[in-house]
Amino acid sequence: MDLSPATVAVTAGRPEPVADAPLSPPLALTSTYVARDGATAPGDQIYGRWNNPTWTAFEDTLGTLEGGSALLFASGLAAIAAVLGEVPNGGVVVAPTAAYNGTVTLLGDRQARGQLTTRFVPIDDTAAVSAALAGADLLWIETPTNPMLEVADLPALGAAGHAAGALVAVDNTFATPLGQRPLALGADVVVHSVTKYLAGHSDVVLGATVTRDEALQARLHTYRTLNGAIPGPFEAWLALRGLRTLHLRVERACANAAELARRLVGHPALSLVRHPSLPGDPGHARAAAQMGTFGAIIAIEVAGGPQAAEQLCSSTGLWVHATSLGGVESTLERRRRHSTEPAVVPTNLVRLSVGIEDVEDLWADLLQALDRIAGWRTGS
Ligand SMILES: *Cc1c(COP(=O)(O)O)cnc(C)c1O
Repeated sequence: MDLSPATVAVTAGRPEPVADAPLSPPLALTSTYVARDGATAPGDQIYGRWNNPTWTAFEDTLGTLEGGSALLFASGLAAIAAVLGEVPNGGVVVAPTAAYNGTVTLLGDRQARGQLTTRFVPIDDTAAVSAALAGADLLWIETPTNPMLEVADLPALGAAGHAAGALVAVDNTFATPLGQRPLALGADVVVHSVTKYLAGHSDVVLGATVTRDEALQARLHTYRTLNGAIPGPFEAWLALRGLRTLHLRVERACANAAELARRLVGHPALSLVRHPSLPGDPGHARAAAQMGTFGAIIAIEVAGGPQAAEQLCSSTGLWVHATSLGGVESTLERRRRHSTEPAVVPTNLVRLSVGIEDVEDLWADLLQALDRIAGWRTGS
């Protein structure tokens, strides 16, 4: 039976329903497992750096949602590093100019060590990406991008990447598997910062990979084991608890974001509002074609420049000034306050991570802060 994602999020990764057994996967705190007699076989648990049943419960659920086999990692960046491990020494990566800053920084670090070369491209420009692909080993895609919300053409880039002989990886953190399923659109491997929507409560740092390629899955598992990039079982347990309500949280957060984006357009304190739901957004048509939802991140540019953007971040009450995203609570941040943020990100850009609170409360708080920095209604 083909279950809908909402049902999968609730039902996958559970133990067989046996009388008097726990309904939910237990938290398995163990470093070692009782040996089978004889030689070890691939499915054996063996030791806590190889396998853990609490990881497996999360992986089964995420894998079913994305349509592949998942591996949980210690963080999103650990999962990204594992995929970069597929690039041969001296290999070439094609990646977005304005991707998640940890990814860009990691690529720069690998390049400085002489391990690989990265060609940075505007990922929403399919022709520019295709032109950069000759001889590439890995095409790294993020869509929508963090924090500028550029939308890449997944089917076209998947085909172009494969035509060039590159492995095609998609960071699906912003969209979640409810927003888009990159493996079905041509990607070889998906990565997530589980820290964000999948866990969803701003209380764990975790990452994941998902692939349909069994050999790649085995290599990523070996990478995780040998590099020790493993999650804590308790974090995995918390993340699975969060994943059970992914569909409810994402549905509400996306609805809130679309409504707030619509209201933000034209506010005198702002020079730009980006959200793929907006009919005038450059990514709207593409997002409508390949995404089931438009996501819950909004990027705004503050007309008064970086100082006004900072003032906005310190003028809200309900919205918390904080980094990260994808939690139940709404947060905002001027991204260029980080020295590692790519320079193409405007200095006055504020990223809003819209949570699941009441949309009128969110709007009232945002509006009073915007009005204050516009000096518009309050006259202050
Ligand atoms: C946060 C984030 C990451 C990194 O994940 P961590 O869990 O912080 O290591 C990677 N990609 C995107 C798009 C992110 O937002």
